Amino acid sequence: MSGPVVFLRDDDIFKADAALLELDLLLEKHLLPIVYGVIPDRCDKETASMLKRRKQKAPDLIDLVQHGWAHNNYSKYAGSKFEFGGGRSYTKQHEDMQKGRLVMQKTFGQLFTPAFIPPFHGFDDNTLKVVDDLGFSVFSAGRRVMMAERKFIDLPALVSLNSYDSGGAPGVLEFSDMVAKLRKCLVLGGVSGVVYHHAAVKTEHDMRNMKRFLLFLAQERDRGHIRVKIFSDFIKAKYRVTAGRMAGKLHNGA
Ligand SMILES: [Zn+2]
Repeated sequence: MSGPVVFLRDDDIFKADAALLELDLLLEKHLLPIVYGVIPDRCDKETASMLKRRKQKAPDLIDLVQHGWAHNNYSKYAGSKFEFGGGRSYTKQHEDMQKGRLVMQKTFGQLFTPAFIPPFHGFDDNTLKVVDDLGFSVFSAGRRVMMAERKFIDLPALVSLNSYDSGGAPGVLEFSDMVAKLRKCLVLGGVSGVVYHHAAVKTEHDMRNMKRFLLFLAQERDRGHIRVKIFSDFIKAKYRVTAGRMAGKLHNGA
């Protein structure tokens, strides 16, 4: 089976609240692979245990990766947010990223996948340098990075299932808009990364839209129209994007 590759990423994992558990149940039931972006400084013990159990049960269907350090916002300006980047020094960014990585390794051990997602998708050259220097295999923001001299695999999530109001508060898109955004990205070829925030699910209507989209992905996968992968699959395949083209080959896997 071949076909376009999609990955699913849920950010801001630190508490196993009702929305996370409900969506996770659906992912598990339909064997949909998911990348969970865990906030190291905020993840509570029960949530960490839940995630570890889930990963032990189905290691090929879930990646536990690092989402920043504490999800702080260092921006002084409304309309822009960042924990990494924004001209913060290499030393400060290194310190925070390393603290986060040590917590992830201590908490999840071998179950941790060395990938880094910057909060608010904020990053600069120093961030990318630290990502390489700390030996992360994957970097995933909201846009592509210039890959010159980088060792990591760049896997941006170009499709967001959330909308943001003028104050930056996240909402959940309508199902038809989610599908339209994904289709647009699939047409471009390469990998279509899809990011959502379970915390943005506030109403039953939001939940219905999210579930409909996840079921749609599972159906598309079952029909052989797409393949759904996690970061570990790309690491195993030594996946590379060179000059905007895919150079590595993704194994079909399980
Ligand atoms: Zn976040």
